[in-house]
Amino acid sequence: MRRVLVANRGEIALRIIRACHHAGFEAVAAYSDADTASRWVELADDAVHIGGSPAAKSYLNADAVLDAAKRSGADAIHPGYGFLAENAAFARRVAEAGLTFVGPPAEVIEKMGDKATARRMAQEAGVPVVPGSDPVTSVEAAEAAAAEVGFPLLVKASAGGGGRGIRPVGAPDELAAVLPTAQAEASAAFGDGTVYLERLIERARHIEVQVLADHHGNAVHAFERDCSVQRRRQKLIEEAPAPGLPAEVRTAITDAAVRLARHVGYRNAGTVEFLLAEDGQFHFIEMNTRIQVEHPITECVTGVDLVAEQLRIASGAPLSFAQDDLALTGAAVELRINAEDPDADFRPAPGELSVFDLPGGPGVRVDTGFTAGDRISPFYDSMIAKLVCWGATREEALSRARQAVAELRFEGVPSTAGLHARLLPQLAPGPVHTRWLEEWLR
Ligand code: ADP
Ligand code: ADP
Ligand code: MG
Repeated sequence: MRRVLVANRGEIALRIIRACHHAGFEAVAAYSDADTASRWVELADDAVHIGGSPAAKSYLNADAVLDAAKRSGADAIHPGYGFLAENAAFARRVAEAGLTFVGPPAEVIEKMGDKATARRMAQEAGVPVVPGSDPVTSVEAAEAAAAEVGFPLLVKASAGGGGRGIRPVGAPDELAAVLPTAQAEASAAFGDGTVYLERLIERARHIEVQVLADHHGNAVHAFERDCSVQRRRQKLIEEAPAPGLPAEVRTAITDAAVRLARHVGYRNAGTVEFLLAEDGQFHFIEMNTRIQVEHPITECVTGVDLVAEQLRIASGAPLSFAQDDLALTGAAVELRINAEDPDADFRPAPGELSVFDLPGGPGVRVDTGFTAGDRISPFYDSMIAKLVCWGATREEALSRARQAVAELRFEGVPSTAGLHARLLPQLAPGPVHTRWLEEWLR
């Protein structure tokens, strides 16, 4: 492996380019019309135009991305997150073209990218799952399964992601209406109408475990993150480690994640997501077979460069550390700064970032793909920066986050920064559940 095509954009493209340089690889940016004059394209060693601004014409266009790899002489492709990252057919084509996919093998993405299949894998591995069903197709089958699962429940799209494809059902008589709608929506949004049922776990925490597995039989975890601060099932603030998590729960949940990774022959970096119920029991919900948006907080508390490890693993090298080498140091928090208007139901608000002054100081890291003068494009997701703050204690991390968000200054687009400033003091007392933010916003 010598030259890596970065099949993504924004902060994660820049993050991957930096990791490539650090690890001694060349990085090639693949960019759309809208991203021609972007920071990550400038920092890459080479850049290839892959098509028009709509993602379907560029970042989601497998032919264009593969062609860009060939044209630029890349021998590997890093997909980042979103776009083609969890597309098994794409991973297969990359391998068939003789290139290295920086991620798990296509067969593993197939197993774990589909939530219903992943639930089966978890059960096989002895990992507790949320009480739920296999895929259901007819209303009759759904009603029968629902009687077992119990209400309230969720109808979940097997191919769903990004908080989409999940519909609550409060009572049996709603199922007949919700099921076909959920199936149609899943077909339209994900090209796969498969849905299944899962009991709605109320007042649960979202706890996820970072795992890494190489091609030499090593599979480790890098502890957990708490991503319970969500709106519409999308994460807004994440923390590592999970505050107040009992040591025995940490051991059990990280063991379960590694067991699952081993069971499915996992390779590269992945995240096993769980819900931790009020009674202290955790339940598997899904696995993300890629680098996660919130990976930096794990880097802060473990000292591991997760993207560099991804590249090492893909190149065939063993992990640079063993499980016993890892320990938690301090605490970290990530604030997702989105170009959305909290006063207008979080409507995405593209526009020109006329001013963009970033915070700094000890323990403060800002991951962004943008600089002042850039246009926040309407074609892509609205996240413009991640403020990642580390402290020796959780209190110090939260305090630095408050200072960082106060220093952040930008003009031209509305953002979630003001909301973060108001939220941070609320988080001081400790863990919250996944509906906490929505209740607080009401
Ligand atoms: P993370 O846990 O890494 O934050 P998210 O679920 O928030 O993961 O998704 C990260 C990115 O990937 C977002 O840009 C989201 O829109 C996108 N994404 C995740 N899953 C899918 C999917 N199945 N289809 C389309 N986009 C997805
Ligand atoms: P996605 O692929 O969109 O990330 P997930 O299955 O990871 O979907 O669920 C996203 C979020 O939806 C979770 O973090 C949680 O807040 C909520 N959720 C999912 N399943 C359940 C459940 N069974 N009970 C309660 N909340 C759930
Ligand atoms: Mg998820």
